[in-house]
Amino acid sequence: GGNGATLLQAQGVLMQFGGLKALNNVDLIVKRGTIHGLIGPNGSGKSTMMNVLTGIYTPTAGTVSFAGKTLAGRTSSDIALSGVARTFQNVQLFGEMSALQNVMVGLHHSFRSNLLDVALHLPRYLRENREASVRAMGLLRFVGLADLAGEEARNLPYGKQRLLEIARALALDPELLLLDEPAAGLTAPDIKELLAIIQKIREHGVTVILIEHHMDVVMSLCDTVSVLDFGQKIAEGLPAEVQANEKVIEAYLGG
Ligand code: ADP
Ligand code: MG
Repeated sequence: GGNGATLLQAQGVLMQFGGLKALNNVDLIVKRGTIHGLIGPNGSGKSTMMNVLTGIYTPTAGTVSFAGKTLAGRTSSDIALSGVARTFQNVQLFGEMSALQNVMVGLHHSFRSNLLDVALHLPRYLRENREASVRAMGLLRFVGLADLAGEEARNLPYGKQRLLEIARALALDPELLLLDEPAAGLTAPDIKELLAIIQKIREHGVTVILIEHHMDVVMSLCDTVSVLDFGQKIAEGLPAEVQANEKVIEAYLGG
């Protein structure tokens, strides 16, 4: 379906670590073509939710479906190949590889090779695959990193590393992109640049789930927002509604 149809639906998600309920009966609906914000205090379960949605964690109870199909029993790489890409709260790049090669690794996964294949064939693949390098270059251009294609990832300024991670995630050609605190640690000009790139991603029809602490970013980008506190969803709705919600102010925005 088009915009307005449900792309992702979580129902009654419980994620228990020993005695801790990191997620406690969480429901989530994300409509196709929207940007959905996921906010809440540190430790409230936001990253855990992302790990459940990408199949890294199997929930203790509850269900998640993406594009109408359940995620139950599927591996994280299968879920990724079905169109769910992500970045991590902490940058996870191949530091000694160039920016271009980092994006090519993302493309390589999308060519449906398994991890062993990637390890065995990556050097040759990177040398020989012209088509992939052209596509990777296009993705670098999309995030404004074309000029830095040959730089080792570890030498890029932090803000650029975050953009490179987004370019690599986009290499999967996802329907849904999950961003875990993409603006954390960025300067104000970097945040402005990031904001424009996330807008552009949405304009390309990619649905986004955005975990973010910068409320100005949430307010200007998100169509809808869910708020977690101690693993429970305490509010959801339009950004302005959520920002004015008493419970949200008390748990998160008040301080
Ligand atoms: P947030 O991203 O909102 O800051 P997290 O989802 O990272 O919060 O963490 C939620 C809670 O779950 C925290 O108390 C955290 O310590 C706990 N937690 C997350 N992952 C694990 C894990 N793999 N094992 C045990 N506890 C975890
Ligand atoms: Mg987190």
